[in-house]
Amino acid sequence: MTLRSYQVGFGDCFLLTFHYGTQRRHMLIDFGSTAKPKGAPKELMMMVAEDIRRHCENKLHVLVATHRHQDHIGGFATSSDPDKEGTGDIIRSCIPNVVIMPWTEDPKAETDAKHATTIEGKELALARNTLRDMEMVAASVTEEEKHLRFGYSLSEHLAFLGEDNLKNASAVKNLIAMGKASRALFVRYEEEPLDLESELPGVTVRVLGPPDLTQSEEIVSMRSKDAAQFWMLQAAAGSTGKAGKVNGNEKYVFDSAGPFRDAVPTAPHLAPPHTRWFIRRMNAIRGSQLLRLVRVLDNVMNNTSVILLIEVGGRKLLFPGDAQIENWNYALSKPDVVERLKDVDVYKVGHHGSRNANPLSVWHGFKKKRSNKPGGAVLQTFMSTMAGKHPGGHNPKDPHTEVPRESLVEALKKETDHFSTQMLDSENVFKEFEIKLDSP
Ligand SMILES: [Zn+2]
Repeated sequence: MTLRSYQVGFGDCFLLTFHYGTQRRHMLIDFGSTAKPKGAPKELMMMVAEDIRRHCENKLHVLVATHRHQDHIGGFATSSDPDKEGTGDIIRSCIPNVVIMPWTEDPKAETDAKHATTIEGKELALARNTLRDMEMVAASVTEEEKHLRFGYSLSEHLAFLGEDNLKNASAVKNLIAMGKASRALFVRYEEEPLDLESELPGVTVRVLGPPDLTQSEEIVSMRSKDAAQFWMLQAAAGSTGKAGKVNGNEKYVFDSAGPFRDAVPTAPHLAPPHTRWFIRRMNAIRGSQLLRLVRVLDNVMNNTSVILLIEVGGRKLLFPGDAQIENWNYALSKPDVVERLKDVDVYKVGHHGSRNANPLSVWHGFKKKRSNKPGGAVLQTFMSTMAGKHPGGHNPKDPHTEVPRESLVEALKKETDHFSTQMLDSENVFKEFEIKLDSP
């Protein structure tokens, strides 16, 4: 099999190709970006989409959208101009046989008892409304960031996280439509592998996360704790609006009936000099509140990531999206899963190399690290990332949160055959790797 790691800057895009004699079958995992690398061509995403189509000869067998973040699904958005192809139109023209998404994306509650969406009416609606509300809050934060004057780095971080959590209406719609046209699987943790035998014969695909709310009490309590924190923060930050409609589009509408409704807004530089320090101070407080809020939101969304373990020809490949520890915990509570993960051969580094998405217990469990395997086949790791983009960085108040995390990158380089999209030069849209399989 071959693995293509595409250059999408800050985002993920991997294409797996399984070779059956002269025939080939393709599985695309994510296609999105929130920031292009320096010097990248303007039409980078278009180039990636076209390369995918060329390489898969207009046919995708399986498409995976791990979670709703822009840096994973932005590329699935279609063009609003009927005469122009968008990146999502190109992917759609490859008519995927199966579209895999987390259970939280299911547009309707199924009645199949084994399926995650059996969570009856209220709870499912709650989960889905929570996602929608999160996007609304992200929209309001992004909006507010444009109006208030924050310090440069705070502003940049807010905009980055806010935009990643914005509703990707076009991409989500396209994914649902592609799923409807073929087969859509809204997945949760399952003991049994997915049924993909007709698309990818001989390939076993297991879903290790996310758990749904009936499976993980921890997720329920985590969620309610997060929800409490989330809304507490929202209240503390001063609820200034709600979901509403503007010209038929769902939008965050600012409240016009607040206590300062009659106040006339003044640009800070026009305010009386003796009040300016106060405005600056208030803006700084507001900015850090918003950043906390939007971080909670980002973590919750990451935890809807699909975690896939792919087994083929005696090899194991682990693709965890951006799943963080709360998502991982349910699978890691199962001794047989922990055992199964030990001899992973290929690991897609979680969440672009952030510190909270690569559980140490999983890392310690990997047997094929260099120091364990002198002379043997070494664990291969793939990281799609772009340094200097994610909040944290070298902020002294918030140490060790840079992405990719330095100590993790060092460990990956020392203990594995490591590839990062940061190693690609600007002429290359992808790098391809051959993964040798045992003959059947
Ligand atoms: Zn991501």
